[in-house]
Amino acid sequence: MRSHLLNDTTAERYRRSVTEGIERVAAKLATTDRPFTGVTVDALSPRIEQIDLDKPLHDTTAVLDELEDVYLRDAIYFHHPRYLAHLNCPVVIPAVLGEAVLSAVNSSLDTWDQSAGGTLIERKLVDWTNERIGFGPAADGVFTSGGSQSNLQALLLAREEAKPGQGGSEASASHAKLRIFASEVSHFSVKKSAKLLGLSQDSVVSIPVGNDKRMQTVALARELERCKRDGLVPMAVVATAGTTDFGSIDPLPEIAELCEQFGAWMHVDAAYGCGLLASLKNRHRIDGIERADSVTVDYHKSFFQPVSSSALLVRDAATLGHATYHAEYLNPRRMVQERIPNQVDKSLQTTRRFDALKLWMTLRVMGADGIGQLFDEVCDLAGQGWKLLAADPRYDVVVEPSLSTLVFRYIPAAVTDPAEIDRANLYARKALFASGDAVVAGTKVGGRHFLKFTLLNPETTTDDISAVLDLIAGHAEQYLGESLDRAS
Ligand SMILES: *Cc1c(COP(=O)(O)O)cnc(C)c1O
Repeated sequence: MRSHLLNDTTAERYRRSVTEGIERVAAKLATTDRPFTGVTVDALSPRIEQIDLDKPLHDTTAVLDELEDVYLRDAIYFHHPRYLAHLNCPVVIPAVLGEAVLSAVNSSLDTWDQSAGGTLIERKLVDWTNERIGFGPAADGVFTSGGSQSNLQALLLAREEAKPGQGGSEASASHAKLRIFASEVSHFSVKKSAKLLGLSQDSVVSIPVGNDKRMQTVALARELERCKRDGLVPMAVVATAGTTDFGSIDPLPEIAELCEQFGAWMHVDAAYGCGLLASLKNRHRIDGIERADSVTVDYHKSFFQPVSSSALLVRDAATLGHATYHAEYLNPRRMVQERIPNQVDKSLQTTRRFDALKLWMTLRVMGADGIGQLFDEVCDLAGQGWKLLAADPRYDVVVEPSLSTLVFRYIPAAVTDPAEIDRANLYARKALFASGDAVVAGTKVGGRHFLKFTLLNPETTTDDISAVLDLIAGHAEQYLGESLDRAS
């Protein structure tokens, strides 16, 4: 069994084994002609059920054959130009190379004595990101598992900053008074975080958005006033720079003004829009981000990085101290005096992947402009897609894209019942998924069902968009035709 351990004597076996796996994936990527096979849960479950985990095959080739059957054949392939559903990007090769290196060396980024250079590389990437944001020299940050964790940590810092010098039961009583302001289309991790942080059920105040799906700052100002008047504490405003549903960017400079005026922590959730930090022509769309107290970035969304790769950045390094605990077995206090850099002092996680290496390899091979160019391309594509949709009488499209998302709904001329139109759109999404020809997402707007393209693949063309719109219309028409038959 020791021959399976990766070490000095097995380096050759490692090379062969991993190469064999890579060759399978390469062959798969080269030949996938659809983003999905359309396999059903019922068809796939028994194949996985029947495998006896207590009877190993002892042979890598046989296990890879089996993997083809239980996973590779029917996986959802984000690199396919007709995968248009969620915030998943095709990944860049330098990052995948980084992934292979980081899992083989297996550094853990909690302490210097488990990572050495890895710690410095992560710190340099944090500094690089902060420079792009426009934060000053006091800024800092840490890599996290994803945007949800980044948002949680940001709100933890905001909570602690909102009531300096308090502790114990007094603190938890005052938790009831804390309020977070976020737009009605902000990410659900804001509410989850509030719950985890022990805030009251009504702690997250939902601020309406305009037709452009951006937070209405007049409403925000009104709610902040009300908060003060009621003797409550405006703990934080979460501005979303790229909403999950629409890619809309809240008005950051106006929100920064209000945060300053009311003494609220400004968090910018740029999980999606962070790609603009590398953009050559659209960076201005997130101007004002430099006034935030904290920023969430998901490199695994708009920097074309494999999951996971994310960070929380803060204007003032000292605020990360709210997450600092010292343990004799790991990061004793004396190490701070000895200036030993232990990233665990800033993190909610302990053992932590060296995800930063993927971004490092990407920047060293392609450069930031390369990433920015890819993101600019998908934003341009969304603009073209919007024109197609706006000119297409079969469709209603919600808002001109600020990033790379299109939300639309099939509206047959002959049908006026909105509930029937809802059903036709829901049916079309399901039928398309079952066909495997394309994958699209869905959401609700104004109580009605809409469909969504999240465009993150520069290989997707306007022809792909047109073709998928035709497929959707075809499925929806089929549903309505059958529905007429049922009625008659
Ligand atoms: C995706 C997303 C998140 C959550 O990020 P994960 O990496 O999926 O945890 C948070 N906020 C916004 C706006 C997002 O789009």
